[in-house]
Amino acid sequence: MSNPDFQDIKNYKPSKNEEFMNPKQLSHFKKKLTIWRNQLVNDAKSTINHIQEDSNKVADIIDRATLEEEFALEFRTRDRERKLINKIDKTLHEIELGNYGYCKTCGAIISLLRLEARPTASECIDCKTIAEKKEI
Ligand SMILES: [Zn+2]
Repeated sequence: MSNPDFQDIKNYKPSKNEEFMNPKQLSHFKKKLTIWRNQLVNDAKSTINHIQEDSNKVADIIDRATLEEEFALEFRTRDRERKLINKIDKTLHEIELGNYGYCKTCGAIISLLRLEARPTASECIDCKTIAEKKEI
């Protein structure tokens, strides 16, 4: 899975000095999420093509096991991509609703730094840390 390519986002950087989630910031994150989503959709397409090409090539029985392993891996990748796309869709919906950037657990502002690194973040770092500790 390739990392999001945010290069085509213009030089605008959300700043702490601006009002949190002003229209400019919202459109920045919306753009970022949309670019990321498009990229994932493209990746997913190429995964499917790859699987189809490989299926056509299966001639050698010895290669089958290897190929099946490879398919399993690609399907897992595809599954991850699909989940991520869902999450991005949910996040884009949050932007529409005006909830974006606020922790779903405690309601605190999620730092811009965190959102830049992880635009799908729906929890502040504190709540996320607590949740992760519970998982262990
Ligand atoms: Zn929180």
